[in-house]
Amino acid sequence: MSIEITSISKTFESFKALSDINLKINTGELVALLGPSGSGKTTLLRIIAGLETADSGSIMFDGEDNTGKSTQDRKVGFVFQHYALFKHMTVFENIAFGLKVRPSKLRPSKEVIEKKVNELLSLVKMEELAKRYPSQLSGGQRQRIALARALAVEPRVLLLDEPFGALDAKVRKDLRRWLRKLHDEYPITSVFVTHDQEEALDVADRIVILNQGKIEQMGTPEEVYDNPTNPFVYNFLGNVN
Ligand code: ADP
Repeated sequence: MSIEITSISKTFESFKALSDINLKINTGELVALLGPSGSGKTTLLRIIAGLETADSGSIMFDGEDNTGKSTQDRKVGFVFQHYALFKHMTVFENIAFGLKVRPSKLRPSKEVIEKKVNELLSLVKMEELAKRYPSQLSGGQRQRIALARALAVEPRVLLLDEPFGALDAKVRKDLRRWLRKLHDEYPITSVFVTHDQEEALDVADRIVILNQGKIEQMGTPEEVYDNPTNPFVYNFLGNVN
């Protein structure tokens, strides 16, 4: 699903968090929103998700205006850094949740849900952990389950806010490889927020650099890295290696 962001602005009290953001994301693209803390990354992601409303501008999904539509209708899945799994539910139940709460007409049968959850467990390589509770999992395992849960409803857009931020380097690397692979194999469009330039350079098809609520630069990792357009981007990328 393509996402077209036109002239989005957002002010909190008198603070301008986003100024006139214009960005077109193509179907299947994996886009990183990169920038220092406070640059507006999360606000933009929340507006795309429908969790926050913009003061002005529009967001179109596949050419259709989604203003006022619920996040469920937008077919978006979320993964956040501290996206708590339901503590009283097993891994299996956590992943099945989004399917079980569907209106009865759209709810798959028990057998179909079971098959789907097992497929997702296998996709995130967590087959053996179906009966565990979140407290019995490591941070990396929990985040894999959060990814499986987000994917259960077959989102056409996946929005990730610092999804791997709290994990150690090895797990982070494994999960970002996994996200890349998911993109190479499934027709899903993803936007992920990160302040980790290495992560953005490593997995994204395109990097959008935000600074003080404005798009400072965007391009493929090579374009952004090889040709930083101003001192801000240059300094920001300067400490990658
Ligand atoms: P980033 O994700 O790049 O760190 P954010 O989008 O979270 O940046 O925030 C951008 C700016 O907007 C920050 O200065 C933040 O304090 C401010 N901000 C974000 N959400 C709110 C809010 N609900 N109320 C007031 N200010 C906010």
